[in-house]
Amino acid sequence: MAGSGKFFVGGNWKCNGTKDTISKLVSDLNSAKLEADVDVVVAPPFVYIDQVKNTLTDRIEISAQNSWVGKGGAFTGEISVEQLKDIGCKWVILGHSERRHVIGEVDQFIGKKAAYALTEGLGVIACIGEKLEEREAGKTFDVCFQQLKAFADAVPSWENVVIAYEPVWAIGTGKVASPAQAQEVHAAVRDWLKKNISAEVASKTRIIYGGSVNGGNSAELAKQEDIDGFLVGGASLKGPEFATIINSVT
Ligand code: PGA
Repeated sequence: MAGSGKFFVGGNWKCNGTKDTISKLVSDLNSAKLEADVDVVVAPPFVYIDQVKNTLTDRIEISAQNSWVGKGGAFTGEISVEQLKDIGCKWVILGHSERRHVIGEVDQFIGKKAAYALTEGLGVIACIGEKLEEREAGKTFDVCFQQLKAFADAVPSWENVVIAYEPVWAIGTGKVASPAQAQEVHAAVRDWLKKNISAEVASKTRIIYGGSVNGGNSAELAKQEDIDGFLVGGASLKGPEFATIINSVT
């Protein structure tokens, strides 16, 4: 890893689970042996955050999968940053490709959400990544840099930001980016930060990879110089496999 923080592994549970399956997952995570020098975060569905917070080891922090763009109030169906903090969340995932491409969130709105969450004290897992057709058209860097710029234009500071590079074609498809493909984009993102923000932000900000990470491919990916961790979807729903991914850094 090149980012100077600790290795960072997030589990994005997405819209999965019931009280029972989540209770089993929490108990598997509680009994797993996790390496001490890795930051670990899980993002349960909103309605189970309280259950997870009350039963999961403090070793693992809680993230939300989304947050409202400003202070709460008359916004039917939304969850505010203040409410997330109230129930013990430390992080929020913003700009995930499912929210961009399934729900229709756009760069500027995502940037505003990130700015609000950071200002109110949540850490932000800021997701970027290209679609398959964009990669095939040679636009991977353009797309990633544009999404990055929207975050950069909005955020007050990079101190509590982790960037997640998640190529859309690799998410939930079983088609992981090769270590070289992932490294190439991570290095380019770091270089973009250096040129457009500062050398300090470039060296301190963790850039994590997401998209079909599993217990079998994480060790090779973790060896890449600019990969500072993972954002894991499907494999984070299996406690022992998630623990393997966390421990693959050593
Ligand atoms: P996946 O999802 O690991 O199931 O591909 C990753 C993500 O969406 O964060």
